[in-house]
Amino acid sequence: MSKVAVIGMGGTIAMAPSASGGIVPSLAADDLVASVPGLATLDAKITATTLRSLPSPSLGFADLVELSDRVRAEIAGGADGVVITHGTDTIEETAFFLDLTVPEDAPVVVTGAMRHPEAPGADGPANLYAAISVALAPAARGLGCLVVMSDEVHGARFVRKSHTSSTGAFVSPGFGPLGLVVEGDPRIRGAARVGLTLPADPRVVERRVGMVTMALGDDGTLLRLAGMDPPAFDGLVIAGLGAGHVPAAIVPLVAELAARVPVVLSTRTGSGSVLRQTYGYPGSERDLLERGLIHSGFLDPAKARVLLQLLLASNAEKPEIIAAFDQYR
Ligand code: ASP
Repeated sequence: MSKVAVIGMGGTIAMAPSASGGIVPSLAADDLVASVPGLATLDAKITATTLRSLPSPSLGFADLVELSDRVRAEIAGGADGVVITHGTDTIEETAFFLDLTVPEDAPVVVTGAMRHPEAPGADGPANLYAAISVALAPAARGLGCLVVMSDEVHGARFVRKSHTSSTGAFVSPGFGPLGLVVEGDPRIRGAARVGLTLPADPRVVERRVGMVTMALGDDGTLLRLAGMDPPAFDGLVIAGLGAGHVPAAIVPLVAELAARVPVVLSTRTGSGSVLRQTYGYPGSERDLLERGLIHSGFLDPAKARVLLQLLLASNAEKPEIIAAFDQYR
């Protein structure tokens, strides 16, 4: 009989109304598994462990290191697939962290819910059922970490939360999902993972990578407050305007930072790659790349930050950092 390990991290999927108002994490992973109708038809042994019971905005890199270790231990212990129940706010960062740090072929699937278990039309049980079916699917092996929500199978590299409350909040902009779960049966037709694996190094907690979003009229106050000498960050991700742009006035500041720490250039647009050679004005992508900023490829700012954080934890130097990001072109 196939084995699936379910690991609970918290999130809306595990929340219930509290006496003081609002919903808070309260259910354990085995409560979630017990609430899913029809799991017996999957003919699998399902184990459940609660690793955290947190809203996902309060998870940190120490939690992700422990989760990655746990996922690899479950696979080494014989699990054919692993499912993580997780808050949806940061699911995309956790999924990408696992994509980078769990090289095994066994499917690793992250899921959650947009509606809590006591809400009308709660989506948690359906999402958990679909996630377990994907974790058992031979076609899901070797694809890296997957996010399954609303019967869609997304690659960790592309997936984003794109809506605050819709059950269809998860999208893979520009690429679409890798597959669908149809009548409970996973149909997968693509792969998103690149061949990059990094250790889930506990030093990731000590590295500080900032993420700064550019806006019209930005005069660099935030960057300046972050401190230049020494910089307050070990690395920085800039969520640039459009194809990877900043206002001309702050180019000297950005260039000075890039001379001191790795500065990755991504985009705040939510879709598409930063360009390399189109615009030639001060603050354009050409200008910034010439001044030493690192191209993020198709990685959005949050995922670029996860990658840079892990690279810094393994003491990667700038050429290795550039080579790693180049894999996401
Ligand atoms: N705020 C919740 C969380 O990320 C949202 C959710 O799980 O859907 O924990």
